[in-house]
This record gives sequence, C-alpha cells and structure tokens, in this order.
Amino acid sequence: MNKASASDASRAEVVIGGAGFAGLALALALRQGLGDPFTVTVIDPALALAQSKDPRASAIAAAARRLFEAIDVWDAVAANAQPILDMVVTDSKLDDVVRPTFLAFGGEVEEGEPFAHMIENRHLVDALVAKAKELGVGLRAGAVESFEANGNSVEVALADGGSMSARLLVGADGANSVTRERAGIASYGWKYDQAAIVATVAHEREHDGRAEEHFLPAGPFAILPLTGKRCSIVWTENAREAKRIVALPDVEFHAELEKRFGMRLGELTVVGPRRAFPLGLFTARTFIGERLALVGDAAHIIHPIAGQGLNMGLRDVAALAEAIADAARLGLDPGGADVLERYQRWRRFDTMMMGVATDGLNRLFSNHSDVLRLARDVGLGLVERMPMLKRMFIREAAGFTGDVPKLLKGEVL
Ligand SMILES: Cc1cc2nc3c(=O)[nH]c(=O)nc-3n(C[C@H](O)[C@H](O)[C@H](O)COP(=O)(O)OP(=O)(O)OC[C@H]3O[C@@H](n4cnc5c(N)ncnc54)[C@H](O)[C@@H]3O)c2cc1C
Repeated sequence: MNKASASDASRAEVVIGGAGFAGLALALALRQGLGDPFTVTVIDPALALAQSKDPRASAIAAAARRLFEAIDVWDAVAANAQPILDMVVTDSKLDDVVRPTFLAFGGEVEEGEPFAHMIENRHLVDALVAKAKELGVGLRAGAVESFEANGNSVEVALADGGSMSARLLVGADGANSVTRERAGIASYGWKYDQAAIVATVAHEREHDGRAEEHFLPAGPFAILPLTGKRCSIVWTENAREAKRIVALPDVEFHAELEKRFGMRLGELTVVGPRRAFPLGLFTARTFIGERLALVGDAAHIIHPIAGQGLNMGLRDVAALAEAIADAARLGLDPGGADVLERYQRWRRFDTMMMGVATDGLNRLFSNHSDVLRLARDVGLGLVERMPMLKRMFIREAAGFTGDVPKLLKGEVL
C-alpha cells in the first residue's frame, strides 16, 4: 500500500487525471518537492495495462532532460537515450535524386550537453511509473468522469463509480481531455489534413547520432536516431494517403519508405508496429478553472514538425509544480485562484508563440510551390551562414529561452 492510500485513499491534496508524461512528471515533482504530507493521486485507465503500447519515440530537449534529472528519473532511462549529435535539414521534391543540405546544426547546447536525446516513449513512461510507486504517489486505474468544485475542495467522480476529493484537480488527460470538456473550456484551433506515420526502422550502418529532417511537399519526413542501429521515423503525409500507406502490405510499405529514407544507412527493416497519428493545432481558451489546471496536450496540441509537444507539456508541469510548491510552503491553498493565475500567466503566451511558430513552419514547408521553396531555401541558407542565429535556434530547441522554471534548469523545487 502506498503512503497516500495509507491514510485515506479517497482524499489527496492534488488529484491528477492522466498518467502520461505530463501527469506523472507533475506527481513526482510535487511529492519530491513537498514530501510525504503532500498527497498526490494519479488516475488513468492505462494504469491497468501491463505495458505502454505507444510506438512513438520523443526528442527530449536539454531543458526537459534536466527536469527528468531533477525528479530522479533520468538515470533509469539514460541507457535507452540516444543523444542527437547533429542535425541536417533538406528541402526537396520526393523524386529529387540529390537532397542538398540547407542547414546543419552541431548538437550541443553547452559543452558536453546535447540539445536533445531521442527516447522511446514506453521506456520513459515505465520509468516514471516505477518512480511514482517508489515516492508513494497514489496510482489508481480508472477514468475521471466528472467533477465539481465545492468551496475548499473539488469532488472528482470516476467512471467506475468511485470518487475522490482534493484541493486541486489537474487535467493531464491528453488531446481529447474529458476534464477540459467537463469544465466547459473551449479549445480553439484546427485539424491539419495531415497525419504522421510513426515506425521504428533498423538499418545496416551506424547513424552516428545524426537526425535528419527532409522537407518534402507532403510534409516533413524526420529520421531520428535511437540507440543501436535504429531510427524512429515521423513521416507526415496527407491524412488519406497516410491511412493508405500504413495499411500497405509490408513489401509495398518498405518501397514507399525507402523512396523517402534513401540508402545512406544501408538496408532497412521496419521493426514493431506502424501507426498514423492525426495532427492538429489546438489551444484551450483558458488553462485554469475553479480548482482546476490543465497541463500538456489537454491544454495545447501542436504539429510535431519541431518535436516540441511533450517539451511544452513539461514546461507546464515545471511552472505549475513551482507555483504550487511556493504556495504550499507558505501554508497557502495549492488550488487557490492566485496559484492558478500565476501558472496561467507563466504558460499561455509561450504556448501561443510555439503554436504559431510550428503552424507557420508547416505551412511554409508542406506544399508544392516553387516560389515558396525558393524563399524558404534562401532563408535556410541565411541561417546556415549566421552562427549567432543558429545558436539562438539551438537554445530555443533546447528549451532554454524565456522565463525558465526551476525544474527545467535542473534545480529541485
Ligand atoms: C507523431 C508524433 C510525434 C511526436 N514527437 C514528439 C517529440 O519528438 N518531442 C516532443 O516533445 N513531443 C512530441 N510529440 C508530442 C507528444 O507526444 C505529446 O505532446 C505528449 O505525449 C503529451 O503528453 P501528455 O501527458 O500531455 O498526454 P498523453 O501522453 O496523451 O497522456 C494522456 C493520458 O491521459 C489518459 N486519460 C485519457 N482520458 C482520461 C480520463 N478521462 N481520466 C484519466 N485519464 C485519462 C490517457 O490514458 C493517457 O495515458 C509527438 C506527437 C506526435 C503525434
């Protein structure tokens, strides 16, 4: 029995709906920062599963890696994390024989610190769950169905008929957030007519830690290095085409893959499942409500063109955890309006800017226009020739710009 359930399993200071990266990282940060008296319970139907089924891998920016170090999870996944040592960007048509490099980044944000690591999602979620058990986070398999703020507390009803009471409910329940919907918070944005095909590919030659992003007319085709001679691909296509490609027999899928991947790394073999993810750009009208905060994909979704969705979610986590910890240490209510407003002020502008930036990139690159192609290639060429600008982009991608919360600097709360 964990420490939260030892006292009263139906009460906690904070209840978090959703045990994805955002929900679990927040639970760990709060337990670690505020200790045993500060009870935290995470509720998710996926906690009943023995293993995560997510086939994706994520680029973990340096700032997010520092957060995982601060919450003591990084050591458990370090052996499965592949540093991105350099990155090349090309801009071509599908049948171009040669894809000239327009932009190349060396991968270090500080000496000896890569700007990002690639890691398979399942390894990270497993490590977060293991740490949550060790730190006495209450883990409950179930789904948040509804809730009601009631003076000093919020009453949370679960789909299995159970209930919980807390001072704050955090909606970390992903893109189709029930919490956001039940709170009546509108979400603005649009679906792209694009989907991202994700698969893991084994190859003959070493990738040497190189990430490649090929801007093809249907959208970016990213080759992201994993440990061993493996890569994760994120292959954007028109939504209908993506559905067709994912359903192709193995031999035909392989032929389509090879056309885009090329033979630089030798023979290719697809390992594990392939899946298409619909893409969109959405931001919740507000990230907070009465005794409610939204974090991660529940609050915002962006195009994976820059590999920043999860990193944005972890910025939410770091900001909310810091706002709660500062208040709790002063004996203030962790679900109080001041705490929630501080969190919202910290995160909303940054989130909007990232949404606008990724949307602009996607529109600029995912098209067949030769005029736009010329314009963007001139732009990429200019960045390539300006070391200061390149360095700024690397720091941005690493998550070190703006008002950075403590956890993202690697400091404990
Ligand atoms: C193809 C693709 C590639 C990507 N690559 C990157 C990348 O390289 N780098 C990066 O930073 N980001 C990337 N992202 C974005 C990233 O994957 C997401 O931003 C991230 O997974 C969101 O985490 P989360 O914890 O907010 O939500 P999720 O991971 O969606 O977790 C939500 C959890 O809530 C649970 N849940 C749902 N409903 C309920 C309920 N009613 N009650 C309780 N629990 C509930 C679900 O079971 C789930 O476990 C990518 C996205 C896509 C589509």
